[in-house]
Amino acid sequence: MNIEKIMLSLESKHKGETEYLQAVHEVLSTIEQIYKEHPEFEKAKIAERLVEPDRIFTFKVPWVDDRGEIQINLGYRVQFNNAIGPYKGGLRFHSSVNLSILKFLGFEQIFKNALTTLPMGGAKGGSDFNPKGKSDAEVMRFCQAFMLELWRYIGSETDIPAGDIGVGGREIGYLYGMYRKLARVNTGVLTGKNLEFGGSLIRPEATGFGGLYFVKQMLETAGIDIKGKTIALSGFGNVAWGAASKATEMGAKVISISGPDGYIFDENGITGEKIDYLLELRATCNDIVEPYAEKFGAKFIPDRRPWELKVDIALPCATQNELDEEDAKMLVKNGVLCVGEISNMGCTPEAIEHFIEKKILYGPGKAVNAGGVATSGLEMTQNAMHISWTAEEVDKKLHQIMSDIHAQCVKYGREQDGYVNYMKGANVAGFLKVAKAMMAQGVI
Ligand code: GLU
Repeated sequence: MNIEKIMLSLESKHKGETEYLQAVHEVLSTIEQIYKEHPEFEKAKIAERLVEPDRIFTFKVPWVDDRGEIQINLGYRVQFNNAIGPYKGGLRFHSSVNLSILKFLGFEQIFKNALTTLPMGGAKGGSDFNPKGKSDAEVMRFCQAFMLELWRYIGSETDIPAGDIGVGGREIGYLYGMYRKLARVNTGVLTGKNLEFGGSLIRPEATGFGGLYFVKQMLETAGIDIKGKTIALSGFGNVAWGAASKATEMGAKVISISGPDGYIFDENGITGEKIDYLLELRATCNDIVEPYAEKFGAKFIPDRRPWELKVDIALPCATQNELDEEDAKMLVKNGVLCVGEISNMGCTPEAIEHFIEKKILYGPGKAVNAGGVATSGLEMTQNAMHISWTAEEVDKKLHQIMSDIHAQCVKYGREQDGYVNYMKGANVAGFLKVAKAMMAQGVI
């Protein structure tokens, strides 16, 4: 495989799409060896075929705000690859959303979904609509207008969207209501639904819970107990909430959360009602964490990221490239033992390189945060079977899936000196499954 040639060709076709190119480069550079071992991949141009999405839908989303003014946003759905199962992946509503970001997320989703052991292909979608400061009625009108276009492209056996940044239970509810009305079916086409209409128990917590199950296993592989360890978390949404709950339950101490305005340092630990308060913070839609400091007497450090704290474990839970080389160096200098990306592509390539060079336990998002989409897969199964599992049943299955992902990473990522390169392990394991499916199905 000539990575340089593939990258040059991609760069010329998709100029300036930096996040997308970054995600592709990371995967290609870690599958070189396995590619050599399978000459049939080269002949079938698997890499060249895999890096381009199957198709992209772009549409206009006009809607009327509370003042009666017309607003126009852009909507997208990137259907990346469905070799192993129907397209599956979340919707992101955030002002930063563009095609580069959705293509990177869709590409990552292919491998993440393959790792879950469930039959799901990769997709992503969303809009540059910013829910911050919008009323409930505005969010509803926007979601309805968005679905008016999206519904033709999705289906419970073809493409199943879910949430991501800016899309939680409220948005999924409005989107689902409109889909149901337009398609006249009620077959669970979206995941992350409320319990009353086909949602799964544990889905809201799943990404954070799964992340902690994975991190605990990473530590155990190195003979380290998570109990008593300090954790720096970024973000303050659903994912950070689930991660903080599970980490606390495991006996670790979470000492930070963060938002676009800065970070909170709570040396007493973010526990109990403080964790629940994250949900309240999120519901205000103001996208700031500062009120936490006032409410609980913690420190607020404006315009900075929590990676400058001395901690044992760092868990990015916010967005892509939120931890860079400088942050990585600071964390390593301060003795960090483990970094688990619960956000998608949370670390820059330079930061990852530094962690791996220093033999720090580093878990990539497509493995660490796969618990969210895995539980979406379990929601799809429950919908298809017309049953609901108990929280214990779902949690047990989630735990098993995270263990299986961990085992796959170790299998393909263990180096001669015993260090596990989880990035390589996750990429190789995810890639092999998809590549084999593509080989078996011919050039389509
Ligand atoms: N947005 C989540 C992710 O990045 C969940 C996707 C889903 O449940 O389909 O994996």
